[in-house]
Amino acid sequence: MGLSQADIAHFPVNAQTLEKDTQFTFSCHSGLKCFTECCRLLELALTPYDVLRLRRATGLSSTDFLEKFVIIEHPEGEVFPRLYLTMIDDGRASCVFVSALGCTVYQDRPGACRAYPLGRGASRHNAAGSTEEHYILIQEPHCHGFLEQITQTAEGYCLDQGLSEYNRFNDEVASILQHPQVRRGKILQPEERELFLLFLYDLDRLRIEISGGMIPDMTPITVQKVMSFNDPELLLFAIQRLRERLFD
Ligand code: SF4
Ligand code: SF4
Repeated sequence: MGLSQADIAHFPVNAQTLEKDTQFTFSCHSGLKCFTECCRLLELALTPYDVLRLRRATGLSSTDFLEKFVIIEHPEGEVFPRLYLTMIDDGRASCVFVSALGCTVYQDRPGACRAYPLGRGASRHNAAGSTEEHYILIQEPHCHGFLEQITQTAEGYCLDQGLSEYNRFNDEVASILQHPQVRRGKILQPEERELFLLFLYDLDRLRIEISGGMIPDMTPITVQKVMSFNDPELLLFAIQRLRERLFD
């Protein structure tokens, strides 16, 4: 199954599809006069794993991170809410984490920042979870990285940028976002919307609610086990539980 015309219609301007092994020339470094230009005038949607990493970088609890740095929107006609990183009102809508020296959360920057100027999508084909990857290349006029004579491929660039871990979690979340019931027009009830935000984005509050017995269908043994999970383990557990709560 390839990309549909509807998928292509949603691509950013200046985007083209490419295969994982198609070569292009690109390099990004602080010596370029466009350095950090891509950290302004952008809408940066956050995945659950992005929030996990960013709240670790900032030292905030997930609850405080969401409160301080995230805008939650629920566009009409969409099943799930979307979460965006706050931008500063400095006339250039700069990212809250950009400085003159670059990204202040570089080691934990979101997946979209790592992938740029690429975008990656994954379509799930069946309940077993096999996925097909798609890549796009976005060539924006302000980006001088394309003038650098370093040969890249989509697959190699994503590996270099440490995207494997991000993709692993994003593909798990896709089992919810692209669930067959969603394709058939599922409507999220208000309490399901709250569960979506709690289970995927607010792991510290989820821990508190699990330990306080506020999450149903959890035996004392499961609660004890979950309390020993680190954040990535808890996120994987939460994705699975949310999928069951929403669709079973
Ligand atoms: S080369 Fe492109 S990606 Fe790198 S800093 Fe410049 S605009 Fe951003
Ligand atoms: S998180 Fe870092 S890399 Fe991403 S837009 Fe903000 S400053 Fe740029």
